[in-house]
Amino acid sequence: MPLFDLRTVILMSSVMPGLMAIALFSLARSFPQNIRGVRHWASGALVVSVSVLLLAFRGSVPDWLSILVANCGIIFGTGLGLAGTQILYGRRPSWRFVSLLLFIAAASMSWLVHPSVAGRTVVITGALAVLYGTHGVVMLRLGRPSRTALSVGTLLLAESAVAGARCISVALATGGLPDLFHPELMQTLYLTAGAAFSLLVTVGLLLIAMERLRTQLERQSYRDPLTGLLNRRALALAFEEERELAKRNGAVLSMLLIDLDHFKRVNDEHGHDMGDNVLIDFAERASAAMPASAYLARWGGEEFAVLLPALSLQNAHRLAELICTRISEPGSSPPVIRYTCSIGVACLAAAEATIQQLARDADTALYHAKHLGRNRVEICDRAFAA
Ligand code: GH3
Ligand code: MG
Ligand code: MG
Repeated sequence: MPLFDLRTVILMSSVMPGLMAIALFSLARSFPQNIRGVRHWASGALVVSVSVLLLAFRGSVPDWLSILVANCGIIFGTGLGLAGTQILYGRRPSWRFVSLLLFIAAASMSWLVHPSVAGRTVVITGALAVLYGTHGVVMLRLGRPSRTALSVGTLLLAESAVAGARCISVALATGGLPDLFHPELMQTLYLTAGAAFSLLVTVGLLLIAMERLRTQLERQSYRDPLTGLLNRRALALAFEEERELAKRNGAVLSMLLIDLDHFKRVNDEHGHDMGDNVLIDFAERASAAMPASAYLARWGGEEFAVLLPALSLQNAHRLAELICTRISEPGSSPPVIRYTCSIGVACLAAAEATIQQLARDADTALYHAKHLGRNRVEICDRAFAA
């Protein structure tokens, strides 16, 4: 005597994605606009929930509703889930692929509505196996390195394997299936596993959405929104970590303070938007010139700071010269006008370095660079003692 009859199992697999859909919808409403795809997941879960509910009322509602609409709804809702993942990770959703599966399922089911439960089961489980499998592969590929995405991708592949096994077992079985609610072992296992998978996957999607929000908020609190570079706060944190490391190794810490020349003039003569474009252009070109260990930050306004752990004064000076030359060359993006920058270089032994002292020294050197005519690099005198 089974603990639940199959209608109850199917009802449970309707209620769970339904509740998850409500949670996903309310989450999506409070999300920043640039996190997209969560609404597709929510709509997908809702469509699957309503469709499974129709399936559970087989016999009480017309067949075209509980067979054709319900099964196509499950395919469509699952396809929406796949589209949501693709959108979240900035890819174009595979609508054509989903439409094709939907068309095949609808055509086969309207043809098979009356004659064969087994035929319908083969079509729907086959289509679902393909959809879950594709979703799993997309999630594993695009969701790296998030562990949650990895788990959801693996669950989707397992869900695909279960649907595929069901498809093959029904296709090979002789005698066919009597009806949806017949308490046959394979049917019970398949429907119960389906209910469990749909719950686990939707909970996983919810966790991925929250993880994405957390990463974005973290990123916002450490990044300058215009240039995408680190902000002052992030540089101070990086400094603390690097100083501890450099202290242990008896190393030095170098810093560059970079100020764009006559920037007020850029704004006055070419407009504030051009000023912003110059700042973005500087961030891109300076980043390209940085060694992997460097921290490039927007210090404020048109000033930038670079922390160079364990880089000698000579090497820091060489890097500053390289940046100055690169920046004074015409940019690769024509809308940006030509501009130059001045750089102050400072270097201190890690044991005595504070970020304030390094910045003060670099600022003194920068002041000299401005005084001596701009578009040049100067070194702080104190740095030679480091
Ligand atoms: P100097 O060569 O001596 O450094 O002269 P400068 O004109 O670059 O320096 P000044 O400090 O006089 O002017 C800096 C200007 O930078 C003034 C301010 O309006 C502009 N600025 C600061 N932040 C931004 C920004 O985010 N966008 C734009 N477009 N302008 C900014
Ligand atoms: Mg300035
Ligand atoms: Mg300036």
